[in-house]
Amino acid sequence: MKNIIELQNISYSYHTLSGETIALKDISFGVKEGEFVAIVGPSGCGKSTLLSILARQLTPEGGSIRIENPDGSLKYPRIGYMLQRDHLLEWRSVYRNVTLGLEINHMMTPERLAHVDQLLEEYDLNKFRDKRPCELSGGMKQRAALIRTLALDPSVLLLDEPFSALDYQTRLTVSADICRLIRKTGKTMIIITHDLAEAISLADKIIILSKRPARVKAEMPIHLTLPDDSLLAARNAPEFPYYFNQLWEVLTSE
Ligand code: ADP
Repeated sequence: MKNIIELQNISYSYHTLSGETIALKDISFGVKEGEFVAIVGPSGCGKSTLLSILARQLTPEGGSIRIENPDGSLKYPRIGYMLQRDHLLEWRSVYRNVTLGLEINHMMTPERLAHVDQLLEEYDLNKFRDKRPCELSGGMKQRAALIRTLALDPSVLLLDEPFSALDYQTRLTVSADICRLIRKTGKTMIIITHDLAEAISLADKIIILSKRPARVKAEMPIHLTLPDDSLLAARNAPEFPYYFNQLWEVLTSE
């Protein structure tokens, strides 16, 4: 399958009054349609900068970036962005939160609203549609944030440490659950995480970045033999410890 995302020699620096910070240097990699890619690297190395470039919020200083729609066109590929916190608005009901993107983009069409209804049903949130976000559990909030993102029908989902606000135990199940739901949609996903076990259990491929300025240290394809279909199956796969050690070695090598 060909790449629907292609980054070639991307570089980026921040210019402030106190000087220049080179964040990214010569970043190249490709992502296939439907692929789940995790990006790991030391704190402050440039991961969020890279995601902002993919989301077209920042323009790279050098290199090229190509993102195709699944129909092969390069026009307006829709990017869904999920951040560290769910950013649900407390004064709006769950329903008015998940339809917020549609409202802002003037896309409240009957078809799109029917899609939202279907997602609410499928993600077990329909009975909470009139509740406030504070009445939902951490996992339910993440599901609502995911519906809000999927409502705009993006072809690529970018997730910047989306589970880091959750406690460890909740995070284990919520991350597996959310990624299972995204897999079902067939969408392409790029996720930043500092949790190596999370990266191995969720991704088809891990991009390992060096310390700042970030460059690609290695690309590691992940193939796990899943012992069962439980949420935590990936972590019980026989290959898991091998990948963990490899990842650790690459990350810590100079
Ligand atoms: P990561 O996501 O890997 O923690 P970031 O992409 O957030 O790293 O940041 C990379 C580097 O760029 C850091 O040194 C950070 O301090 C710097 N940086 C990030 N945003 C800005 C900004 N708006 N202005 C100046 N420097 C920035």
